[in-house]
Amino acid sequence: MFENKETTKLSSYGEFGLIDLLTKNIKIKRTSTLKGIGDDAAVLDLTRGKTVVTTDLLVEGVHFDMMFTPLKHLGYKSIVVNLSDVYAMNATPSQVTVSIAVSSRYTVDALEELYAGMLLACKNYHVDLVGGDTTSSASGLVISVTAIGTANQKDLVYRNGAQNRDLLCVSGDLGGAYLGLQVLEREKAVFKENPEIQPDLSGYDYVVERQLKPEARKDVIEMLKELHIKPTSMIDISDGLASEVIHLCKQSKVGCKLFEDRIPIDHNTHKACEEFNLNPSTAALNGGEDYELLFTIQPKDYDKIKGHTEIYPIGHITDVEGKYDLIPTNGESVQLTAQGWNAFGGAE
Ligand code: ADP
Ligand code: MG
Repeated sequence: MFENKETTKLSSYGEFGLIDLLTKNIKIKRTSTLKGIGDDAAVLDLTRGKTVVTTDLLVEGVHFDMMFTPLKHLGYKSIVVNLSDVYAMNATPSQVTVSIAVSSRYTVDALEELYAGMLLACKNYHVDLVGGDTTSSASGLVISVTAIGTANQKDLVYRNGAQNRDLLCVSGDLGGAYLGLQVLEREKAVFKENPEIQPDLSGYDYVVERQLKPEARKDVIEMLKELHIKPTSMIDISDGLASEVIHLCKQSKVGCKLFEDRIPIDHNTHKACEEFNLNPSTAALNGGEDYELLFTIQPKDYDKIKGHTEIYPIGHITDVEGKYDLIPTNGESVQLTAQGWNAFGGAE
């Protein structure tokens, strides 16, 4: 479908030649990186504040489909999803490491594309790529990224700090990435039927971009700082709003009321939902991969975010532990359930 240009075979490079090729343009930008790629280990100076570490593993066929994922986008996304976790701690990412296992089906050019995407994300978010590991895989591509960041202890935000009456807020809009995936899956099915037909993504740019090229909400973290708001709890939305709301509430030992008509959904997502005969709220609640932030703020901070174009209050916290009320536009409230992504299959 999408062309991932492939010419130079992996076998024509040794492991060291390959690492060299992929990392030769990397320049260290952060003063906290004392030694990057090239020695047995990187050396960092993170003595100021607390250190935050997070890892994500992406497996071909499980987390991404090479039929419709351009490698540059995949590289970009693999970095961004890790940075999103660092921001969700209210911390600032500073370094990443990248490990890959690659099958011989991949070419050097393909890996260069992957790294071009990773390095673009590193540049955009001002983080250094300081190391990793490279090995072969019996089938497909596996990417493991670890992100490191720092925060002052007093600024760290955990999932467990939500209090009764706090406002529940989200950044951006939800459900788009899931609709993007639906569009890509549909075009893949068409292509499989008839490889002569080129994918037609016109009119779906927004949702496809939400799926293929997500951004981490660094800007929202900065905005909250400027507004002098420290969220009481926070999580990034990788598995769908419903499961993330439940994560926050469970860890904070509280309940919540969530108003369906307050969930921000872009008009492009609405349009795509109509076509796929999907309920937009369901896409937002259970879709996932939006990489927006879900957080709670104290009631006294409401005035600071009122009318804000990127932050939406969608409900509030209650003291009824375990009761997660979704209040529909019309009708009785229902208990929110998490149908988020489950890595081992089956219902959560
Ligand atoms: P070692 O044998 O000690 O594991 P390697 O030869 O694997 O060393 O790695 C050499 C250097 O290249 C190290 O600094 C390592 O962190 C870095 N490196 C290896 N693979 C990657 C990769 N895929 N991406 C970025 N850096 C890498
Ligand atoms: Mg190694």
